Amino acid sequence: MEKRMRELETLLTKYNYEYHVLDNPSISDHEYDQLFHELLDLEEKHPELKSDTSPTTRVGGVVLDKFEKVSHETAMLSLSNAFNEEDLRAFNDRIEKAVGKVEYMCELKIDGLAVSLLYNDGKLIQGATRGDGTVGENITANLKTIHAIPLTTNLTEQFEVRGEAYMPKSAFEKLNKVREENNQQVFQNPRNAAAGSLRQLDTSLTSKRHLSIFLYGTTRPEILNVNSQSAALDKLDELGFKTNQERAVKKDIDGVIEYVNYWVEHRNDLPYEIDGIVIKVNDLKLQEEIGYTVRSPKWATAYKFPAEEAKTKILDIELTVGRTGVITPTAILEPVRVAGTTVSRASLHNHELIEEKDIRINDTVIIHKAGDIIPEVVRVVYEERSDQEVYEAPTTCPSCGHEAVKLDEEVAIRCINPTCPAQIVEDIIHFASRGAMNIDGLGEKFVHQLYDAELIKDVADLYTLEKEKLVKLERVGEKKATNLLSAIENSKSQPLQKLLFGLGIRFLGQKASRLIAEEYLTMDNVMEKTKDELIEIPEIGEVIADSIVTYTSNDDFKHLIEKLKAENVNMTEEVEENESNQFDGMTFVLTGKLVEMTRNEAKEKIELNGGKVTSSVSNNTDVVVAGSDAGSKLDRARELEITVWSEQDLLERLGG
Ligand code: NAD
Repeated sequence: MEKRMRELETLLTKYNYEYHVLDNPSISDHEYDQLFHELLDLEEKHPELKSDTSPTTRVGGVVLDKFEKVSHETAMLSLSNAFNEEDLRAFNDRIEKAVGKVEYMCELKIDGLAVSLLYNDGKLIQGATRGDGTVGENITANLKTIHAIPLTTNLTEQFEVRGEAYMPKSAFEKLNKVREENNQQVFQNPRNAAAGSLRQLDTSLTSKRHLSIFLYGTTRPEILNVNSQSAALDKLDELGFKTNQERAVKKDIDGVIEYVNYWVEHRNDLPYEIDGIVIKVNDLKLQEEIGYTVRSPKWATAYKFPAEEAKTKILDIELTVGRTGVITPTAILEPVRVAGTTVSRASLHNHELIEEKDIRINDTVIIHKAGDIIPEVVRVVYEERSDQEVYEAPTTCPSCGHEAVKLDEEVAIRCINPTCPAQIVEDIIHFASRGAMNIDGLGEKFVHQLYDAELIKDVADLYTLEKEKLVKLERVGEKKATNLLSAIENSKSQPLQKLLFGLGIRFLGQKASRLIAEEYLTMDNVMEKTKDELIEIPEIGEVIADSIVTYTSNDDFKHLIEKLKAENVNMTEEVEENESNQFDGMTFVLTGKLVEMTRNEAKEKIELNGGKVTSSVSNNTDVVVAGSDAGSKLDRARELEITVWSEQDLLERLGG
């Protein structure tokens, strides 16, 4: 017994460290909670064996040395947990026993990082992490990059608000995609990503992470002149703090249970992750009467959702080859229900990760799926492993059989055969995509079909397609064929910048394609340029320049350009002369819905007039153009007293 208790203490301390300090947990929250409660139960049964430093007596976090330490005037506590209806009813029984029947405030439990914001004399003077509850880290500069945090407030007294900083799911997915492309380790979930982002010494990194916050309380409700949690939240709203509007007051525990069950079903519809529902006694006076343990308030509890994890088996590891030749492994699973859907595939990201987690075909694994986030393999259940063979990373391309290599400093394994069919198909899909030649109706499946039927071998072959051959394909009728041919015909007149982007030159994105097209105006000019000439264009760096020259000096590429020319594909760019330089040196931010033009059009027009458009509002912003439903960027502009124009104002300056 004692041995198990010591063992649990050691384990929980280790997991706490991984979770709170490294932002890189090795077990799931669900598993952690189970161990935590196992220890709690043992301590309850054997109080004499309980250690003074038990993890059950402390608030989880740790204070890092890299930030200045700050003491919390009022401790920032954790919450007790409830995992089912029975736990919720037991919580209610304890409350009723202490103070009689009460009303409950139900709030979503945002899966992020607890922070404290201190205001004095109407200004934000300090932002801190929870840390160990008593001492936190001063992360004021990082928190100031969150647009939803007001830098000023109408209250002049010293005043502390608390809330949960988080990363919206969309920002999380984008961040991980970029990290994957750059061969960086991906974050396991939005919470770890948010915590990692807020504890960056370089705040410019934090500001790129698109974090947000929901405030849920204050340490001095008396200043707000309210007597309930629900009124406190309403008051915070009025004061301009972002609170979560998904909340409800319930008059008894039955109402709470109903609310909890609703969110068990609907949690995945939210644009951010929640891991439960926080239930608080609504009356603030009663809260004080009920009191606290060293670790958490007795007047609140957190209902934790059932795990979004499931155990299943890896049937196979499938390899796919992307446009740039990267070979990506995907686990093919024995189908299993998790988080409301049946999952049969999970991302394995790259071969290094397979090695790190020692994942093998036929292994039993724990997979995690949260809402629309792509399922992932969390870990292997080693106890259930028998004689599975070690999985070897591929040495040849699964599509063409050519040698597959791991380039220096890259996590990815690549096929470097330029005639690899899988890459060609991906190239054609990219060429036809919206940002490139925009060939309507030519999606992924159709490209595969055309390639498999040997009607196309490269992008230029698209322009030689004939109706008679198309209609012979399965599921392709007259109409589909005609539409495709006319979309292909239309694409011939796309400007050079779209063609350059569509050709899939490595590292050459949309913006660089535009800059190059506008500078050199014809494909022939681009083909002649040396690396030194290319890097003269501001914003074109060595990597892009090198890559362009590698392509333009390659005979296959030259041949492809000749083929496209022969099909009359436009090879020129028409540059509208700058109407004026009226916006020279000015930085703009566009926000909200525009009516007369798209955001991209507005951006182009501003740039034509010498201005620059950036995505976030800062002291360097000169003008924020706000359309309808403008949100936090507009708030931020007002805070920083930046000039705000309507769409109409912009149009007038552009000359109508
Ligand atoms: P907690 O996350 O269970 O609950 C307390 C926290 O809830 C508060 O600090 C606050 O930040 C947050 N919260 C969100 N919305 C709130 C709202 N509306 N009102 C009040 N609070 C709200 O407790 P904890 O101490 O922060 O963390 C412990 C949990 O962390 C564990 O239960 C476990 O799930 C996880 N954990 C996991 C590992 C691991 O290895 N996987 C390790 C340590 C901890």
